[in-house]
Amino acid sequence: MRPFDYRRAEDARSAVAALDERPDAMYLGGGTNLVDLMRLGVASPEMLVDVTRISSSAVEESADGGLMIGAGVRNSDLACDPLVRLRHPMLAESVLAGASGQIRNMATVGGNLLQRTRCSYFQDISKPCNKRQPGSGCPAREGDHRNLAIIGHSSGCVATHPSDMAVALAALGAIVHVEGRRGPRTVPMPGLHRLPGDEPDRDTVLEAGDLITAVEVPPLSFATRSHYRKVRDRASFAFAVVSVAAALDVADGVVRDCRIALGGVAHVPWRAEVAEAALRGSAATATEFTRAADLELAQARPLRDNGFKVPLARNVLVRTLIDLTEAS
Ligand SMILES: Cc1cc2nc3c(=O)[nH]c(=O)nc-3n(C[C@H](O)[C@H](O)[C@H](O)COP(=O)(O)OP(=O)(O)OC[C@H]3O[C@@H](n4cnc5c(N)ncnc54)[C@H](O)[C@@H]3O)c2cc1C
Ligand code: SF4
Repeated sequence: MRPFDYRRAEDARSAVAALDERPDAMYLGGGTNLVDLMRLGVASPEMLVDVTRISSSAVEESADGGLMIGAGVRNSDLACDPLVRLRHPMLAESVLAGASGQIRNMATVGGNLLQRTRCSYFQDISKPCNKRQPGSGCPAREGDHRNLAIIGHSSGCVATHPSDMAVALAALGAIVHVEGRRGPRTVPMPGLHRLPGDEPDRDTVLEAGDLITAVEVPPLSFATRSHYRKVRDRASFAFAVVSVAAALDVADGVVRDCRIALGGVAHVPWRAEVAEAALRGSAATATEFTRAADLELAQARPLRDNGFKVPLARNVLVRTLIDLTEAS
């Protein structure tokens, strides 16, 4: 690993100023992704600016009944927070579905959102990769892409976003608070992560030096009836092949409202807006759930070896919605 300087930021402004001074610097959260990438030679910052002490490490109730989650909150603390578990169970479940206990103890909310893809070519510096080295090509398109995207990919990149937590936050319509060179601003989810298009090296809409300070989860009364379901190749310690975050509001057998996002299928946590629109006002039955899932997945353009993800995503979504209906 290349030698690097280390600085602990005192507050958000000084962290942003540090990256302004040193464009070769990167923020350091728990380091569970960034340090791995430095060891692999994929990332080589000359300075790390530790932001774990400046971002709030608290989950607080906001005035409107939503939640304000500090960017420095460790994944384990988020998953066991009583308000999160009670009001947004799918958020707690999504965090617990990821990584291992030790990694969750280190990983932060800000770092989790900005973790990089697990595409094996991205992590192997002996291979070309448009995300790591723009213009070098995408060997995954014709190579090993079994676990890569089926929706929204481009000729330049077919990677998926790896975060489980981001899928639940996209379903919940979270708002990301950012401190940047021009001051504070907010970025909605979905909207933080971007599709690869012809700039696959850009995972998000964030600009150089932007610091995530908090994630706001707006109030959503029916999120108390929500669930995160993840399919993976091993029972633990594995990224999603397909996942679903869903919240469902059913009254008298009719879907009044819903929130759905899919993981493991796209370069972004994929908000299933087509399925949501199809479900609102429909009967809460397996037939209608299947119809909505099929409408959403009509957008899928699977690659040679990942066509299985289309029926898998449909079945996982339908099963999750049936479970939420039966629990009501
Ligand atoms: C073996 C293993 C298995 C895993 N399995 C899963 C899994 O199944 N599901 C899953 O979702 N995740 C999984 N992970 C990934 C893990 O969740 C991430 O590594 C972790 O969430 C990253 O958080 P961090 O705080 O350590 O980020 P870091 O590694 O510190 O940083 C990640 C990126 O975010 C940037 N950054 C950090 N904080 C901020 C901030 N506040 N503002 C702006 N930029 C910031 C860094 O510069 C860096 O680019 C796994 C990781 C490992 C090692
Ligand atoms: S899918 Fe994206 S990350 Fe993977 S090799 Fe292609 S360009 Fe690189």
